[in-house]
Amino acid sequence: MNEENNNMTEAIRQLSICNACRYCEGYCAVWDAMEFKAVLNEGYVYHLANLCHDCRDCFSACPYNEPVHEFKLNIPKALGQVRVDTYTANVRPKFLKFALEKPVLVTTTSSIIAVTVAILYASLLFGLNKFSTLPVTTIIPDAFFKPVTIILYLYTVVIWSVEGGSYWSKINEKAHINVYGLIKGIYDAIFHTNFRGGGTGCKVPGKNNRYFRLTVHSLVMSGFIIALVSIAFYPDIYGYAGTAYLLGSIAISLGTAGLIYIHLIEEKGSRSQKQSAMDYPFTILLFLTGITGVIIPISIGTSWFNWNFLIHDALIMVVFLLAPFSKFIHPIFRFISLIKYNSDTKNLIQ
Ligand code: SF4
Ligand code: SF4
Repeated sequence: MNEENNNMTEAIRQLSICNACRYCEGYCAVWDAMEFKAVLNEGYVYHLANLCHDCRDCFSACPYNEPVHEFKLNIPKALGQVRVDTYTANVRPKFLKFALEKPVLVTTTSSIIAVTVAILYASLLFGLNKFSTLPVTTIIPDAFFKPVTIILYLYTVVIWSVEGGSYWSKINEKAHINVYGLIKGIYDAIFHTNFRGGGTGCKVPGKNNRYFRLTVHSLVMSGFIIALVSIAFYPDIYGYAGTAYLLGSIAISLGTAGLIYIHLIEEKGSRSQKQSAMDYPFTILLFLTGITGVIIPISIGTSWFNWNFLIHDALIMVVFLLAPFSKFIHPIFRFISLIKYNSDTKNLIQ
């Protein structure tokens, strides 16, 4: 039996015990969704794994956990392993699966190559001495910036869509999406409904910081969207668009710093280590793009403005190039599962 099959068998074993217990009812959508299915199969467990956002509430509530109890339960870890398997099973093109298996190597190498190419571009085309004195629009002309940005956006959206389509075909089982499910799915994704632990908040990073994870995750998401929209106004880096970009960058920096903090202090036993290995490098990459984005307005008029701007753009390129082959698959799959969950809920009520 290969590792994916082992992970699936183990998740089904654990969830079957939970289905009899149901103490964790109300913590998140996983527990409701489990009730919709009399017998769990592979596609449905994929769906449950992507509904889980790894808050660890069920782990801290469970009296049947490993290693103490003979049931050896660890739901966040079991679902985390399956979640990573859904990424590798649906990544497109398939040969890029290795990027998910070696996230530290791929993220670090890609970032180093991108920054090196940017520095070579600056020194060969403009000369090291002259580079920092040139206007930013000479270094990255608008006529180059906009088409490259559009191509990068389209590239990411197209691959995400193909991967999302593959994921959907594995989990939907001829279920119908309805308007309620779509709207509620969007609402749940934007407002992180499932991060509230049924009203008690997440158990990580600790009992006194129950909404910390919700806050930092929201900061990253909103900062990313704000920065994404304001990039369209390049080369306006001084006006409203510049201010919006700064705010987006601050939000990304604070949010990713918070996520890194959680990774550092959290209890590791209740987490899939494969998931952690995937999260770390991409979160650090996002943190670096956020920080270099914050430095842009601070460095205006200084000799390092152009260098920071160029490095920032190189890192953003890496974020978009790697997004479909990294931890950044998770917003797409979770969003699809939220739509399915809410559509299933509506279909059952009718
Ligand atoms: S995680 Fe434990 S407490 Fe929660 S439903 Fe499963 S068996 Fe029950
Ligand atoms: S870890 Fe949190 S989100 Fe995942 S199943 Fe348990 S309660 Fe739900």
